[in-house]
Amino acid sequence: MTSYITEFETKHKPEDYYKKVIDELKCKNVDLGAFNNFNDDLKNGFPFSVKDNICVKNVESTASSKILRTYLPPFNAEVVDRLQKSGFGFLGKTNMDEFGFGSFGINSERIARNPIAPDYVAGGSSSGAAIATALLKYHIAVAESTGGSISAPAAFCGVVGFTPTYGAISRYGLIDYANSLDKIGFMARSVTDIRRILDITAGKDKKDPTSSSRHIGGDQKMQLTVIKELMQRVEPKIISSFDKFISKLEDFGYTINYLSMPEIDYALPAYYVISMAEASTNLARYTGFKYGFKVKDFSKRYNDFFTEAREQFGTEAKRRIVLGTFVRSASVKNRYYMKALKVRQLLINKLNLLLKGGFIISPTMPIKTPKIDAIQKLSPVENYAMDILTVPPNLCGFPHVSFPYDYFGEMPLGAQLVTSHFNDHAVLSFVEQWEKSFDYKFKYNIGAL
Ligand code: GLN
Repeated sequence: MTSYITEFETKHKPEDYYKKVIDELKCKNVDLGAFNNFNDDLKNGFPFSVKDNICVKNVESTASSKILRTYLPPFNAEVVDRLQKSGFGFLGKTNMDEFGFGSFGINSERIARNPIAPDYVAGGSSSGAAIATALLKYHIAVAESTGGSISAPAAFCGVVGFTPTYGAISRYGLIDYANSLDKIGFMARSVTDIRRILDITAGKDKKDPTSSSRHIGGDQKMQLTVIKELMQRVEPKIISSFDKFISKLEDFGYTINYLSMPEIDYALPAYYVISMAEASTNLARYTGFKYGFKVKDFSKRYNDFFTEAREQFGTEAKRRIVLGTFVRSASVKNRYYMKALKVRQLLINKLNLLLKGGFIISPTMPIKTPKIDAIQKLSPVENYAMDILTVPPNLCGFPHVSFPYDYFGEMPLGAQLVTSHFNDHAVLSFVEQWEKSFDYKFKYNIGAL
């Protein structure tokens, strides 16, 4: 299979290669809003970009939030350290929905645009990571998913997005959204390259007590399960192309099992209760004293001081602080937060049983790539409902991959494959097989280099 890392290592690069890439990217970035900053000193190594909620030493890391502007972390995230020690070169920080709150890349100071057609969304929250991957052949994106932030933009931009088992990759140096859900993962043009960087970056890190030392395997299964309730949420036009894809897989020897699981409908509300509860505590640390934005006037009264600082949050962040604080408050905690935790455990048990038999497969998103102005008209709840397919594996910490399987007009369509904990290599092998058997290629020639 194509490994762009290997190709890059064996091909001689002209002296000004990195400068040329960065200059072209800067030019495209004016319209697309993919990067928050660039590393002009990059001189060697296979380039990797880093989502802006992952810390790179002495590089502004803001999670695309005004409240963190000017924050320079004095350390590298573990994943960044491991990549640099293996000879990869840091290219720049990528744009995202503020703190990871969103699915379309529009909850940021700069709206991210789809590189295939700029009136369309790039997806979110790892919007910039997906745009960078669509633009650059020799590149991997370090991204992060809490509830679908790698799958969604990967699907809308036509690239491969991989989210590992919760705990497989250290979260040290990640600006937390919801600690029990956050996973650092990757996007790339080649799934073979994702496999390689997974091996480099996975494994126990003493600095992250939730990181795991468990071996990552790849049990192959020839059975695919489609959950009926999930398919009921998918746009009919997508269903017909997905059905064609499924029958190609049948020709290839897979058996398809259609199964009903009514409980799956509770994944979305449980996810939003848990993620907002955790987000509201994580955002409490931004007070105007310590990181980034600082209130200068210490003569202000208590409420005025903190209002000035916290006024820097965007609308979606404020909404989540209010809702998250509410669902975990003493009087309603049992009704929302505790119940959501029970739903999560129930779903882990149910889905685990199902995954013993094979993979779960679905389209990645219930709609085809939407236009930016259409998404801007949605209510918050309509927005959250778009995560119906990407939330279940994220809520349960299951490894999953989104990969392009077809096109709708010019725009790509993504499918999402899920497997059981610590079987991450299984979903990557599946995509490798699919690319090989059906000769799938990234068809867009939009790249910088
Ligand atoms: N769209 C989801 C949310 O807003 C997921 C985002 C993410 O994975 N960071 O919570």
